[in-house]
Amino acid sequence: MAERHRRIREFSNEEIFLSYYKKNAPVYEVLADLLVPWYEREKRLLPFRENTDPYRVWVSEIMLQQTRVEAAMGHYERFMQELPSVKDLAEVSDERLMKLWEGLGYYSRARNLKKTAQLICTRFGGEFPHDIETLKTLPGIGEYSAGAIASICFEQKTPAVDGNVLRVVTRLTNDETPIDSSLLKKQIYMSLKSVYPENHCGTFTQSLMELGAVVCTPKSPRCLICPLNEICLAKRAGAAAQLPVKKRREKKPDEAMTVFLLVCDGKVALQKRKEPGVLRGMWQFPNVAAHIAHDDVAQVLQKQYGVCVQALKEGPRFIHVFTHLRWDMHSYVVKVKEQNGVHFSWVDFVRLEQAYSLPSAFRRFLVYAQNSRDSF
Ligand code: SF4
Repeated sequence: MAERHRRIREFSNEEIFLSYYKKNAPVYEVLADLLVPWYEREKRLLPFRENTDPYRVWVSEIMLQQTRVEAAMGHYERFMQELPSVKDLAEVSDERLMKLWEGLGYYSRARNLKKTAQLICTRFGGEFPHDIETLKTLPGIGEYSAGAIASICFEQKTPAVDGNVLRVVTRLTNDETPIDSSLLKKQIYMSLKSVYPENHCGTFTQSLMELGAVVCTPKSPRCLICPLNEICLAKRAGAAAQLPVKKRREKKPDEAMTVFLLVCDGKVALQKRKEPGVLRGMWQFPNVAAHIAHDDVAQVLQKQYGVCVQALKEGPRFIHVFTHLRWDMHSYVVKVKEQNGVHFSWVDFVRLEQAYSLPSAFRRFLVYAQNSRDSF
């Protein structure tokens, strides 16, 4: 690798392009030479990059799936402070884990983290396996996370191909194949794998991720400052902003829902979500899977939960978007006579903040329940 870097320092990017690309060598071959020194110079200093401890890297990779770095950092630092080792995570209560994960969404990620931590402790003596195939057998660790952990922590030649990397590579090669294609992903994985630099595997993986996150961004690629700009075929063709191509997605189905913010003596009713599918096992405000007219609310609540309505008013409406569906959520703030009702926990607002994890789909109604306590 030192030899490869020496060559980069002695020649300009244009010369590299001429020597590699004009001879029809695939653009992949110069990637590591260009990206590794760039990453070492330019990388953002982030808490999970302090070292290559697999526990820290693994938690960060799972947390950053579907969550922006800026949004995840506070959660990450709190998580590491409270659960600094895989053993701590294996032993944490489900309730506390959900509270630490609150706001990040996709709570199955947290549940899988704990399951995997328990397996690492019981089956692997507290040590992470080094090889990608064993890593992939653990709950919540797919091809991408396994590639990231194996390369960053154990210097394996295992690419981590996520949306960022797909975007960089399809632009670099001016490839119009839809990025939803599993064949394209496989091809990119194999092409990257073949050019992994010895002893710089982790840095190469992270350099690709970093380039996609801060330079080759989805809407406005910053080609002028990009270390790949001399070899990038989409940039040369003026097509960077049109790539990657995505298949037209089916419209997500809407599911109707009415949420009841039941308040009584400064407390609000919560229940555990039992319905199969999204957010199963999480706390929620009572709700039904339909839009209920104002005049029918009292009857529905009496029949469904056995609660007696004293006063009610319409609350806000929200659309909450999941990956595969949207909840069209209507709501009512309802003052009830007694703190009863089947399977409810009546919780004051301070305790709710401290000890209950409420998914963001329901959390956005909380302020209306709080403000409505005394306004009937
Ligand atoms: Fe992306 Fe532009 Fe760099 Fe090409 S030159 S990889 S399009 S930022």
